[in-house]
Amino acid sequence: MPCTARDVTAAVRRGADAMAEHRDELVELDRAIGDGDHGENMDRGFRAVLAQLDLADPPTPGAVLKLVATSLISSVGGASGPLFGTAFLRAASGAGEAEELDGATLAASLRAAVDGVAARGKAEPEDKTMIDALLPAVRAAEERAASGADPAEVLAAAAEAATTGARSTVPLIARKGRASYLGDRSAGHLDPGARSAALLLAAFADVTGV
Ligand code: ADP
Ligand code: MG
Ligand code: MG
Repeated sequence: MPCTARDVTAAVRRGADAMAEHRDELVELDRAIGDGDHGENMDRGFRAVLAQLDLADPPTPGAVLKLVATSLISSVGGASGPLFGTAFLRAASGAGEAEELDGATLAASLRAAVDGVAARGKAEPEDKTMIDALLPAVRAAEERAASGADPAEVLAAAAEAATTGARSTVPLIARKGRASYLGDRSAGHLDPGARSAALLLAAFADVTGV
């Protein structure tokens, strides 16, 4: 089944629930290697998204994604606001004016999102950032889409790869963001932004369901 504005809205709402549910966990992760605000940042950002969704009923998937981007950018300080904001803004551009996304256009939007985060944050793989969850996710999404998968299957593959990718950040030494100030002491901890990226993709996949 293709993915409509209504589906994307439902997915975003589920993502907001996930950020609220995991707020304390994300705070704890960021307390270990950052300044302890990642859970607050993501929860505040997605509460702003929900408030905007209550006021507007964006007509296309791209318009929903753009609303998410502008809400996150205007409500979240810190590294993650502009980075996730860029991700959703690029995904919105990727989706364009289309009424529906199929597996291929969804994977292309995800690719645009991740390339946007990489361009903005300049993180390389294994720098212990959200890129370590997002890059495997987009690769898995592209692979599934290439074999004709629908959006639900594409998102399920992306979510699974993101979870594994996030877990892979544990032994890494951070080379970007606040965690990099810790040097070697950043090893042994899950990166909070990689965790929230994986949680968001899992929530999106959960709604579209396979
Ligand atoms: P801040 O570090 O400003 O307090 P957050 O705590 O909300 O912001 O977000 C921290 C997360 O942002 C990190 O766990 C990491 O995943 C991500 N991050 C930080 N810098 C970068 C970067 N340059 N590129 C990609 N992701 C980054
Ligand atoms: Mg922080
Ligand atoms: Mg901060």
